[in-house]
Amino acid sequence: MTVDFALGIDVGGTKIAAGLVDGRGRIRNDKRVATPVGLGAYAVIDAIISCAREVIGKTPRSDVVGVGLGVPSQVDFDRQEVEFSELIPFVGTDVRTLVSSELGLTVTMDNDANLAALGERRFGAAREVDDFIMLTLGTGVGSGLFLAGQLYRGAHGLAGEIGHTTIDLRGPGCLCGGSGHFETLFQEAQTPAERALVLAAGLANLINTFNPRLIIIGGGIGNGDHRLVHDAAQRATQQSMAGRKHLQIIPTTLGDDAGVLGGAALAFAEADERERFVR
Ligand SMILES: [Zn+2]
Repeated sequence: MTVDFALGIDVGGTKIAAGLVDGRGRIRNDKRVATPVGLGAYAVIDAIISCAREVIGKTPRSDVVGVGLGVPSQVDFDRQEVEFSELIPFVGTDVRTLVSSELGLTVTMDNDANLAALGERRFGAAREVDDFIMLTLGTGVGSGLFLAGQLYRGAHGLAGEIGHTTIDLRGPGCLCGGSGHFETLFQEAQTPAERALVLAAGLANLINTFNPRLIIIGGGIGNGDHRLVHDAAQRATQQSMAGRKHLQIIPTTLGDDAGVLGGAALAFAEADERERFVR
């Protein structure tokens, strides 16, 4: 019997991770390389391709259902184009087509927070949960909204920019033009207590807006600082109206592999979709 694999690629501001993942979320082969951020978009794309090639190795292409590519950028999912990208200058570059033609595999691209949500749904803590939110806390603050059994991308694939919602009208300015944004305040918080306070406010906004059953906190900080997650979760639950009923807030259960598993989850989901269409 042949085993189907998906290739998950997670492109971050500091590292690129790629992994060959089976249908049960087991990583067969993986690799990490530094992101050559200062060298421009094409250098990053070259690094993605060589990292992916090494991970695929001698695995026949026919055993790989596709590639899920996560980028730290806003992605127009329907058009598979990068709309806005702060860390890596991907705008105007056809990242998906370049990677796809070099690897000879179908590639689907999405922003990293959406992929993290798909990874938790397929392989992690949200397997049985139809309404949950994935909050990623790292260099930036992002979210993936999984609502009524599916990932909610919005009209143009740009939904979930929770990092750019206002918490303090008089707060510091943001690159996007707004002020006092969740992401900026979180980055500028001076003490652990202040950080928890900002995170709690952001969580309470999510809870009151979407009434999720579960919020999973991932990203570099969410994965590493369980104390922060716990303190903010407690405060947010007390502060929000919708939070008092059956809400769980937990750190990611996929750890460092969340990005790669998320990419693989997207590739498997797209392959399922294609199969349904063919039938
Ligand atoms: Zn902003």
